[in-house]
Formats: sequence, C-alpha cells, structure tokens
Amino acid sequence: MRRKLAAGNWKMNGLAADSAVVRALEVSHAAASVDILICPPATLIASLAATSEIVAIGGQDCHAAEKGAHTGDISAAMLADAGARYVILGHSERREDHGERDEDVAAKARAAMAAGLAPLICCGESLSQREGGETLDVIGAQLAGSIPDDVDGSLVVAYEPIWAIGTGKIPTLEQIGDVHDFIRKTLVDRFGPPGDAMRLLYGGSVKPGNAAEIFAVSNVDGALVGGASLTAEDFSPIIAALEAA
Ligand code: PEP
Repeated sequence: MRRKLAAGNWKMNGLAADSAVVRALEVSHAAASVDILICPPATLIASLAATSEIVAIGGQDCHAAEKGAHTGDISAAMLADAGARYVILGHSERREDHGERDEDVAAKARAAMAAGLAPLICCGESLSQREGGETLDVIGAQLAGSIPDDVDGSLVVAYEPIWAIGTGKIPTLEQIGDVHDFIRKTLVDRFGPPGDAMRLLYGGSVKPGNAAEIFAVSNVDGALVGGASLTAEDFSPIIAALEAA
C-alpha cells in the first residue's frame, strides 16, 4: 500500500513570514494520514525543517556534484544537512530555464540518493506534443533518461503536463489515468516491486475544487501543487481531499 503524498512547490516564492503557512498546516493536519511535503526556496529550508514535525521539507533542485566550484548552486548533501528529506528534480521550469536534460536529471537523482534524499522526478509533455499524439512517447523517454537504474521505492514521480502548470487547465481525468497507468507499468517493467512502491503524483493546476476528482483516478498517489500550496487556505483542503480519497 503506497502512502499518499501532498507536495507543495513554492518555486521562487516565500519569505520568512511565509513560514506561518507551514505552521498552520502543522496545526490543521497534526494527525495526517498522508505525507505532506513543502519545497520552499532554499533560504527557508533549515528554519522550516527545524520547526516542522508533520510537514516534511524538500529542495527544488540540487547540483549533481558532491561539492566544488559551482557558484550559486546547492548540493544534495547541503539540502540534507539543512533538514530536507526530498528534492524536486527535472521540473519543466528547470528544463526550460536552465536547459536541463534527462541525463542531468538522472545525475542529480544519483547525487540526491547518495545524500539520503528521496528524488521527486518530474516529467510531462508540452501542448504541441499532446496535440501531436506524442504524450506517452515523450513521457517514456523522460522516464528512461531521467531515472537512474539503481533506485529504490522511495523515488517519487510527478506527471506534470507543461500546458497545465499555472494555467488553470487540466487534462481530462481519463488522460491523467492513461498517463499514470502508463508510468506505473513502465516503472514496474523496469524496476519490479520497487516500481510498484514508487508514488506517482499528478501536478498542474491542482486546486481545492478539482483535487478530489483527480485523487480518484487510478495510480494517482497524490499531487505536486504549485500556486495552491502557497497558502494554507488553499493547500489544506487539497490535503484533506487526499486523506479522504
Ligand atoms: C508546478 O509547477 O509544479 C505546478 C504544479 O504548478 P501549479 O500547481 O501552479 O500549476
């Protein structure tokens, strides 16, 4: 049985005052039956990790190298040292803004696991790939290239159609189910039982109003939430919907 996961990606949002959001979640979900994760900007990881018991804290990226001359970057060991337990890798914004390729994501995932972090690897098609009928080919290639061979069941995969991120649009529930079933089969074919243990998150415009129907789709083990994770008012009902699913 996979334990469900509600994950929030704050992206480049969040000042010290926004720690109140995590404190509010800690109170409202003190007896949570699902895992809750917030990935704040790196500046908030240490303080949030030190003060959170229910909400796990994660990074949004890490460098593939253990340490060295990489100005402005952060290593997986630094994230773990600050108290992070997960790290998002291969988000479409990193792939677009920083030219990250699948092999870069795989190298970062290896570094994350070596530091004891659970990698949360993102995949997803563009609108033109969706309209061109290429979705499963694109996802299959991203999974093959971005997930290293030596992983265990703690790895998390997020399916995030690029055209659904921050747009208010989501795929049909059937489309989400088709992709999640495909990802599950791909992971089980490649990894066996660990592939069945990996949690599959849907991401892209998840809101309090659509969370319950998305969580009812097969092989959806939770969500990766951007905008709606920035306030407890929005994220808390999404967590509650996951608990009820
Ligand atoms: C994301 O970027 O990971 C994301 C899912 O964003 P949003 O929920 O705002 O669409």
